[in-house]
Amino acid sequence: MRRLKCELKARELVNRSDLKSRLRSKYLRSQFEKFTENEVYFSVDSQSSPGKKHIVILSSPSITEETTTKDLKQILQREDIKVACSCDAFLYQGFKFITYKAQAGIDPEGRVPVVRNPRQKGMLCKHILAVLKSFGIQ
Ligand SMILES: [Zn+2]
Repeated sequence: MRRLKCELKARELVNRSDLKSRLRSKYLRSQFEKFTENEVYFSVDSQSSPGKKHIVILSSPSITEETTTKDLKQILQREDIKVACSCDAFLYQGFKFITYKAQAGIDPEGRVPVVRNPRQKGMLCKHILAVLKSFGIQ
């Protein structure tokens, strides 16, 4: 059956991400925080500011407070997701704009990254990539 939805699966988001972010995600460790209605939260240590953590949120209508990490693995493989990260790169390198434009961003962002990423390359920051990698999506 042909899929008409404009959202993207986790693997498609990873495939559209730039090589630099993918390489930088390699040694990052993510930690599960909590499930809420339609969202799951992770924290990832900041490399530039020791002791600081970035919060990664993945969203799907299939996620509930009763979802388990095992369920989540299947959700991430089968369903379209939306993403967000609290880091500067996600906002200033245009990933927030790019994901929102692709209907894969949780929060609206209308500012085009004209200075830092004029060609709008990439999709996910290294923190989101690190979270997805921990579920075998890389
Ligand atoms: Zn990030």
